[in-house]
Amino acid sequence: MAGIYIHIPFCKSRCIYCNFFSTTSLSMLGDYVEALCLELRQRSNYLGGEPVETIYFGGGTPSLLQPSQLSRILSCIYNIYNVRAKEITIECNPDDLAPHSADPSHDLATELHRLGFNRISIGIQTFNDSLLSLLHRRHNSAQAIQAVQNAQNAGFDNISIDLMFGLPGQTLADLRSDVNQALSLGIQHLSVYSLQCEEGTPLTQMLDSGTLDVADDELSRSMYEHILDATRQAGFAHYEISNFALPGRESIHNSNYWHSVPYLGVGAGAHSYNLHSRQSNPESLTDYIEGAKQNCIPFDIEQLTPSDLYNEYVFTALRTCNGLNIRELERLHGTPMHDYCLRMAQKHIRLHTLELHDDTLRLTREGLFISNDIMSDLMYIS
Ligand code: SF4
Repeated sequence: MAGIYIHIPFCKSRCIYCNFFSTTSLSMLGDYVEALCLELRQRSNYLGGEPVETIYFGGGTPSLLQPSQLSRILSCIYNIYNVRAKEITIECNPDDLAPHSADPSHDLATELHRLGFNRISIGIQTFNDSLLSLLHRRHNSAQAIQAVQNAQNAGFDNISIDLMFGLPGQTLADLRSDVNQALSLGIQHLSVYSLQCEEGTPLTQMLDSGTLDVADDELSRSMYEHILDATRQAGFAHYEISNFALPGRESIHNSNYWHSVPYLGVGAGAHSYNLHSRQSNPESLTDYIEGAKQNCIPFDIEQLTPSDLYNEYVFTALRTCNGLNIRELERLHGTPMHDYCLRMAQKHIRLHTLELHDDTLRLTREGLFISNDIMSDLMYIS
């Protein structure tokens, strides 16, 4: 079992909080699609013939691609790999699914459904028009709602929305309104992230200069508490720190990341994992496209040491509602690492931020708020 991730590092404009690798210069898009197809062929052995269960187009903005370009990439994958896809996801921006001046002959959601995508992830972030404008998102709330409805009308019954909280000037009432609006749309999955102030972004410059302010820890906590409560009342399972799904609608692709399933990441800046190493492509469109043409994409490779593998196992397992099974940890990483993990967990078990039941360590509700500190305490530094 394996996954394929296709990275589309192009955006029409930049959001003020974003530090992802992507460019607003679209002139290389055509060459880039050809380079993706070359890389898919060049790395045909990377997954060792494992059946490909999930395909995920992420970005950047994959919904910028023409249906013909998406079709070309999908055909390459189907021709080269052993595809038994249960889930084929594409990340979309609302303004692509519900443009201001829609051409009736071009209904993107219907085209995506026809191409075989069966899951759509829509980057809405908030339904508050002032905040959308402040963040330099390209859509408004009416387009966000229309985007979900267009996806539903096209036949998608597995729709995820991304929301953010802790936005500049956002109140708890604003956040409640966003969550209510999202849950009223008949979606199956919700991903919710707190706003991160990344170095070098316009957002961070505005915060440093005092032009903007973001939510303090107390308000952020109240917002996350509300998200936990409202999603539970709506029947969503909290299956990973930032992810909520109706039963059976958890993201298979992302869950596989958290369960160490191998994946091939294709595209500039994409990462791959094959149980022994992580490989990353250059974050440069020209290096990537020229490398693909010459059959020598200049990637970096990191061989994973036993402590890397232990740390990843602990980090990913604790993020999920299934928690960290310490018998499985012992089987995979040996008795000394099992003993180390339990020793480091004691402080948090005493503080009730971790619980140990049936050989499984899980974050408690209180632990969710300090999850990074707990995981860092359990890491092994050799
Ligand atoms: S659309 Fe997504 S990837 Fe592009 S700039 Fe905005 S947040 Fe970043």
